[in-house]
Amino acid sequence: MQLILLGPAGAGKGTQARILQEEYSIPQLSTGEMLRHEVKLATPLGKEIKEAMDKGHLISDAILIRMIKNEIEQSHCQNGFILDGFPRTKPQAEALDSMLKTQDMELDAVIHLEVDEEALIERLTGRFTCDECGEGYHVKFKPLTVEGICNVCGSTSFSRRDDDNEDGIRRRLEAFRKQTAPIIPYYQETGKLIVVDGMESIDVVAAEIKAKLNEIKSKSRLTS
Ligand code: AMP
Repeated sequence: MQLILLGPAGAGKGTQARILQEEYSIPQLSTGEMLRHEVKLATPLGKEIKEAMDKGHLISDAILIRMIKNEIEQSHCQNGFILDGFPRTKPQAEALDSMLKTQDMELDAVIHLEVDEEALIERLTGRFTCDECGEGYHVKFKPLTVEGICNVCGSTSFSRRDDDNEDGIRRRLEAFRKQTAPIIPYYQETGKLIVVDGMESIDVVAAEIKAKLNEIKSKSRLTS
């Protein structure tokens, strides 16, 4: 199954991608994670990326397209994948189409998590991640069960993202409106777009996505 999760920063793409990864045993391909990894390596490219990311700007299409192409061609993606954060521009969406064609793959669904922008600021400024296992938390919406200890792996080390500051957040939301939102009608035309209310709780959103995907799967079984 080939899936795309679309939505602005804080819509819950990463959270839902992790849930879907478990459910369907297909890898989550998060371009944000890939870029943060490059930043950690402190390569010259990583330094350039960090500067742009911290300001809430998008990274060049050429870099992102190369990154995703590299992943999709590997064996861990042969049964499908969940794209989290890609495509974010029309050229990326078009490049993805040709990559899928080459791999003889088709998109199953593009899940658009619709959210209210004002609520996103609170979501983004309160979130943090376990440094060991990558589980995401939020001080209010998804707190740790035991203060200071990760529910999943027991680690005591957590981080906040450098770009989760109010200025950076506003610029990322603007980048979504200007550069990413225009690809929504592109996917609507393909009939693959699923719109989900991303303002619901994590579990409700996950249940709605799964119900819609299962519907798609059973329809495709009937027609194949
Ligand atoms: P995310 O983790 O998806 O919120 O992405 C964090 C940041 O990485 C974004 O604000 C962009 O600067 C950069 N980024 C991630 N994915 C892309 C993409 N597909 N195209 C351009 N920039 C991206």
